[in-house]
Amino acid sequence: MELARRRGFRLGRGAIALLLSLALGPAWASAQPSSGEAWARHTAPTPGPTRVIGTASLGCLAGAVPLPPEGPGWQAVRLSRNRHWGTPELVRFIQELAARAQAEGLPDLLIGDMSQPRGGPMPWGHASHQTGLDVDIWLDLRRHGVLSRAAREEITFPSLVLPDHSAADPARFTEGHARLIRLAATAAGVDRVLVHHGIKRSLCAAYRGEEWLRRVRPWRGHDSHMHVRLRCPAGQPDCRDAPPPPPGDGCDASLEWWLTEEAQRPPPRPPGPPPSLPPACAAVFAAP
Ligand SMILES: [Zn+2]
Repeated sequence: MELARRRGFRLGRGAIALLLSLALGPAWASAQPSSGEAWARHTAPTPGPTRVIGTASLGCLAGAVPLPPEGPGWQAVRLSRNRHWGTPELVRFIQELAARAQAEGLPDLLIGDMSQPRGGPMPWGHASHQTGLDVDIWLDLRRHGVLSRAAREEITFPSLVLPDHSAADPARFTEGHARLIRLAATAAGVDRVLVHHGIKRSLCAAYRGEEWLRRVRPWRGHDSHMHVRLRCPAGQPDCRDAPPPPPGDGCDASLEWWLTEEAQRPPPRPPGPPPSLPPACAAVFAAP
């Protein structure tokens, strides 16, 4: 390790990237560091202090820490994906949310994808989750007991939203689900909680005007899980937050927009070449 580090110091990061690409063969060499496939090939984080670079949708993460596969009040699912990495702040958030949910009598939280070991784009599944500040938490309040690793690979959970997307299904979406979303949205450091717009509509019907609804934002998908994003932690000058949610509870015309025909169409791709990752991510990608 020490030798590698000293040699790294002498050769510089570019040389290491070149050596790595020569050593690992043409497939690796031809992969651009902006492709999800390339970032997913990293199975371990970089050592050293945690550094968040860029935005949740265009960024990466150095010095990531793992969420333990299970702990008091939570079980991580789909462990084979190797996507349970994040900042220490995200791991602490999950552990504290699980403890608070447990104290309220809610069952174990099922924790889905966080970030890859070095963050960055993923080959499939998410546009964001790139900087160790995002986590998907299932809105599954069934009491499963302790699930085996194999069961956590297989488990599925159907949508909580009505087929016409107008609201959460009142037969399945309970006060407990709302309580869990509120616990997340009121936790320290949370930037926003993304849920299906039908779930947001049901929350608006029950809790209109409450301050925490501002951070619960409507989105596509997210009909069986919530996506929690933390704000950039203190001491992370290269981390970029998204603009804050607009003032108000969001129970307004902007929510109705999601039911329009325009909202059903996939968003147009912005013109020009796709944006590239922050330059500092090249070193995170190339580090041994
Ligand atoms: Zn997500």
